[in-house]
Amino acid sequence: MDDNLTAILYKVNDLRLENRPIPEPKDDEVLLEMHCVGICGSDVHYLVRGAIGDFVVKEPMIMGHEASGVVKKLGKNVTNLKPGDRVAIEPGVPCRKCDFCKGGKYNLCPDIIFCATPPCHGNLARYYTHAADFCFKLPDHVSMEEGALLEPLSVGVHACRQANVTLGSTILVTGAGPIGLVSVIAAKAMGASKVIITDMVPYRLELAKSIGADGVLLIEKNDSEKALVEKVTSAFGGSPTVCIECSGAESCIRLSILAVKSGGTIVLVGLGPPEVKVPLVNACTREVEIKGVFRYANDYPLALELVASGKVDVKKLITHNYKLEETLQAYETAKTGQGNPVKVMIHCNKGK
Ligand code: NAD
Ligand code: ZN
Repeated sequence: MDDNLTAILYKVNDLRLENRPIPEPKDDEVLLEMHCVGICGSDVHYLVRGAIGDFVVKEPMIMGHEASGVVKKLGKNVTNLKPGDRVAIEPGVPCRKCDFCKGGKYNLCPDIIFCATPPCHGNLARYYTHAADFCFKLPDHVSMEEGALLEPLSVGVHACRQANVTLGSTILVTGAGPIGLVSVIAAKAMGASKVIITDMVPYRLELAKSIGADGVLLIEKNDSEKALVEKVTSAFGGSPTVCIECSGAESCIRLSILAVKSGGTIVLVGLGPPEVKVPLVNACTREVEIKGVFRYANDYPLALELVASGKVDVKKLITHNYKLEETLQAYETAKTGQGNPVKVMIHCNKGK
């Protein structure tokens, strides 16, 4: 076969491309020829800081978790796929045995093996093996890029499900990075009537408009909290019923609580500082529900349906494309923000 060029993070700011042996699939796994792998904010965080919370890069780690590939070889128990199938790869494989797994919330499984969350390797390589039941076959008309984008889209779908988004929901999304944008896309697809998104960076709001946001709010550094709440209320002509927080910024968490309608729901997707100050009594006395969001569980099939049916278009999120050989440049773009990146996509298969 081929080489297996692989992107490995050794330590902070030490990302290398190396040839590794092509792995053999275990009985319940498939060997995949990797195609598209998107760069996520967390990948950049590991590159620049070497850790996210308690997850610390102590050993060299293969990067990448937003991915699609083509099945090359089957483990002996695999019946759901065949060689040549194009698949989206759900990157977290849970134990399937604990209470959380049995209860359907496998994203909370303490033993989940999640690509490129240390100490687990990711899939930014030419070849990679993965549990066959966490690979989703793509219909012919769904591209490999879209397959890789099912990962962030699933976060948006999960956030909207956690927030009980439904017909007529009015939604404030804070932060127009890839996660805020997929939340807008999912919310519109799930029937929200008005979705308005905030950011401090104009180009991200421009993209938000093009992917279907009903309105955008540019946040200025010296906007007072009161002024922000008024901006939101006036943009909605009232208070939104749901807030989806996708920046991690304390000011956005506070704004979400203060701006949401009494009895409404806030979901916290953004992961910022481990402790923040929030107006909790305000939330209590107005019965504002505050919920966490961690990745996704059973959301890939829905995200795939949304894309395959043509109900949503996620391709516009991709602003930059690189080959696997250009991984260091790709990370440089994602890291520096030069050229106004949103989603940077790496193409791993040879000749593409
Ligand atoms: P990102 O950094 O690309 O996007 C964050 C956006 O928020 C940026 O565009 C930034 O300009 C904007 N922002 C920052 N401060 C702001 C403010 N005060 N007001 C308005 N906008 C502001 O990141 P992303 O990849 O889109 O991810 C968003 C967040 O979600 C991150 O914190 C990430 O760690 C988190 N995340 C959580 C999960 C989960 O499962 N909970 C999954 C993926 C990502
Ligand atoms: Zn489990």
